[in-house]
Amino acid sequence: MLRSEIYFDNAATTPLHPEARAAMAEVFDLFGNPTSIHAEGRRSRVFIEECRARAADLLRLQPSELFFTSGGTESIQTVLTSAVRDMGIERIITTPLEHPAVLKNIEHLQKYFRFDTIYAPFDNLGRIDPDGLEPLLKDQPNTMVVLMHANNETGMLLPLNRIASLCFQNDVLFLADTVQTTGKLRLNLSDGVSFAAASAHKFHGPKGAGMLTAKGGSRIQPLILGGGQERNLRSGTENIIGIAGMVKALEVAIRDIDQTMPHIEFLRNRMVNGLVEIFPDLLIFTDLNHSLYSILNVGFPVKQPGEMLIYRLDIHGIAVSGGSACSSGANHPSHVLEALKSPPGYDHVRFSFSRFNTIDEVEKCLDTIRHLIEQ
Ligand code: PLP
Repeated sequence: MLRSEIYFDNAATTPLHPEARAAMAEVFDLFGNPTSIHAEGRRSRVFIEECRARAADLLRLQPSELFFTSGGTESIQTVLTSAVRDMGIERIITTPLEHPAVLKNIEHLQKYFRFDTIYAPFDNLGRIDPDGLEPLLKDQPNTMVVLMHANNETGMLLPLNRIASLCFQNDVLFLADTVQTTGKLRLNLSDGVSFAAASAHKFHGPKGAGMLTAKGGSRIQPLILGGGQERNLRSGTENIIGIAGMVKALEVAIRDIDQTMPHIEFLRNRMVNGLVEIFPDLLIFTDLNHSLYSILNVGFPVKQPGEMLIYRLDIHGIAVSGGSACSSGANHPSHVLEALKSPPGYDHVRFSFSRFNTIDEVEKCLDTIRHLIEQ
């Protein structure tokens, strides 16, 4: 099977960090069931609780506020379901720009529970103005705000702290989808963020491991019932290897952030400048001043309809993402591009970078694109 020589799709998933891999290998033989009372079980239990304390510390939380799950989707669904089923939430304020893990779940829950879904106002780049959100929160008990910290398609960043304090002041719950930003920004989830969701594979950890944070003694109830693991919030025998890899990956990410952040930003800036040199009429669909430094969404002016660049780059060994939801063979703009009313006539490509990318890869990608348009 062919492999991509250059991987610029790190918002979709990231390669495992060698230190995370080593941390996982170290616990391959830690096989005891953490629920068992014998020494083998206790060894596993102690390890998991150590991991919880390490992760909680990095997120400025108490260990009792952090739960291990299978990933972002499960964490989000746990909160949304419990919100409308158990917590008396009657209004969810969100946007049509959220990940399907939010939108599809809200749509599903609407069939079974009575609550209103209200969209917060946003501009044509997906920026949410806290002043526009504030009136929706005033004197509205039983409300939950559900917003992503960084949009996975455009990189747009939410002013998280400002939104969190608005929610706090108005006694409104806030679920922050921090799947794209955990391990990429120093998060402080201690103030005003009632719940947050994270997924290990977005920050060089393994797939199938995630976190749900729940601030204070919340009334959240489980989605998955059974043996009562994770203090009854998430049953199922713990994924020790996944947890080991995830927590190590988070530690490494935060430890190295002062080097990786400017490196990745430098790559993104070179890419955008190089693309503008080739295509003066490039549509830059990422607000470079208000976005996560690792994501760049651009629209290439379409000369020949159907000639999607992502496929042509793939043939040349370069992995990127598009802005289309390619279902039933037709290319529709993604729900995010649609909601943002992105102008027609552009072929959107999302480049998303990681610490493992190099400037040579960016130059090679630019050369390939130059070569492709000359053909
Ligand atoms: N939220 C955002 C913003 C995402 O980008 C993703 C994954 O792409 C998810 C939620 C879902 O995470 P997972 O697929 O790891 O469960």
